Amino acid sequence: MAYNIAVLPGDGIGPEVMAQALKVLKVVEEKFNFKCNLTEGLIGGIAYDAAGHPLPEETKELCLKSDAIFLGSIGGPKWDNLPPELTPELGGLLAIRKLLKLYANIRPAVIYEELKEMSPLSARVLNKKVDFVTVRELAHGVYFGQPKGLTEDEGFDTMIYRRENVEQIAKAAFDLAMKRDKRVTSVDKANVLSSSKLWRKVVEEVAKDYPEVTLNHQYVDNAAMQLMLNPLQYDVILTTNLFGDILSDESAAICGSLGMLPSASYGEKISLYEPSGGSAPDIAGKDIANPIAQILSLAMMLESSFSEDEAAQEIRNAVDKAVKSGKRTGDIACGGPSIKCSEMGDVICNFIKEA
Ligand code: NAD
Repeated sequence: MAYNIAVLPGDGIGPEVMAQALKVLKVVEEKFNFKCNLTEGLIGGIAYDAAGHPLPEETKELCLKSDAIFLGSIGGPKWDNLPPELTPELGGLLAIRKLLKLYANIRPAVIYEELKEMSPLSARVLNKKVDFVTVRELAHGVYFGQPKGLTEDEGFDTMIYRRENVEQIAKAAFDLAMKRDKRVTSVDKANVLSSSKLWRKVVEEVAKDYPEVTLNHQYVDNAAMQLMLNPLQYDVILTTNLFGDILSDESAAICGSLGMLPSASYGEKISLYEPSGGSAPDIAGKDIANPIAQILSLAMMLESSFSEDEAAQEIRNAVDKAVKSGKRTGDIACGGPSIKCSEMGDVICNFIKEA
């Protein structure tokens, strides 16, 4: 079985962390006996420099004929002042999300016991490993609803959800919960917003197809507070585009470093996997970035797009072992000794080989 993967390293630390994840991929391919055909493409500032556009036609074609997209990161100060449609963010990242019709953004948030001191939350709150996932609706809601308008005296947006949008994202969340602790917390503002009243009703209907999953609801203001007070209560958080935008950043903040957090964006046919953080221009080119977010994004791709669950779990185990063994890149070293990005890649590969 061969999987076709578009590899888009992008800008800043993207190529450095991508190289480590591809090392890991090679090791699991051999160990678990599957094959990936990797084709590299250009995206972001580097694509603008080489081809005059942050998402060149060639990259679009490559993506559309691939089984999954493995992205590094895009952007940097060099390209900040381009016309908006040519910036890596709008012309590259948002454009590829549109191209692939990505509808769900999945962001795990994990606080490892050994890295508790990285979290701004107190040890009293973190008395166990925090491990939950936010499932954010990505293609509808107030960011896309029509009409929208802006005059000198008035600005307005439309928050709209249709039944089918909610069904699609709710199924993604319940399916994920079935592979985890079978608990979904749906976050809305159903005490005030009509779109949230529909959201809640449809989520409850979808829940009937998943009798093993426990569903509860929280209003978004309460959820923002509960994430700080007791993140241990969550398994899967299911929420709208706007609320998920905010809550998934809050959950990244309580984890300490962006360098540890992977993400997936599901499309109807082709899904995209990338670290939660950006191109980190402040540390790019020095071989000091943390490759774990990219490596855990690889695990998500192997599991979600290719059902290579054993390989994905082995990668996660190896990351756990690397963290337990005390190996740290600068972002998680808390001032202590640190290793290079490439060394962390080697450490994780070795734990996989030894397992
Ligand atoms: P950023 O996520 O790049 O960096 C924020 C902080 O986190 C920095 O101090 C950085 O060094 C650190 N960090 C991030 N990833 C790390 C890693 N793997 N290892 C160690 N430290 C890490 O966010 P920013 O500085 O706001 O943005 C920089 C550029 O990235 C901008 O051009 C922005 O538009 C772009 N960006 C891209 C994406 C993406 O590609 N999906 C997402 C967010 C931001």
